[in-house]
Amino acid sequence: MEKTLAIIKPDAVKKRVIGKIIQRIEDEGFEILKMKMVHLSQDEAKRFYYVHKDKPFYNSLTEFMSSGRIVVLLLEGEEAIKHWREVMGATDPAQAKPGTLRREFGFSIERNAVHGSDSPQTAEFEIQFFFK
Ligand code: UDP
Ligand code: MG
Repeated sequence: MEKTLAIIKPDAVKKRVIGKIIQRIEDEGFEILKMKMVHLSQDEAKRFYYVHKDKPFYNSLTEFMSSGRIVVLLLEGEEAIKHWREVMGATDPAQAKPGTLRREFGFSIERNAVHGSDSPQTAEFEIQFFFK
């Protein structure tokens, strides 16, 4: 069993699709071990996304991620990291496959509804960040 961190981003919270996304998480067979709603400051969002600090989208991304409440979930399942990323779909909703959450609920490459850890190391950091 593996753990991963999922986030329902501010755009999806504002769209009132928290329930639909959590239903999908449960339908996919993930166990929700922990869950909370938070409103990050931009400084906190910057710490969370520090791996992207040199990217051109860093400032805009962290502004967006601190623009409203988010729902943070600790998920467990078999190959949870890969499985959750498959359910999310590609970063850019326009490139994401039909049936993925980003295709269904994403608005742009930045406002793409959900987050998921991309490796065991990242998952460790991200889970500690929110649920230490
Ligand atoms: N992002 C962005 N512009 C880009 C690429 C990414 O605004 O050109 C945002 C988007 O919200 C994405 C996040 O930065 O989810 C982290 O980027 P990453 O490449 O790690 O994509 P992810 O792992 O979320 O698919
Ligand atoms: Mg990533």
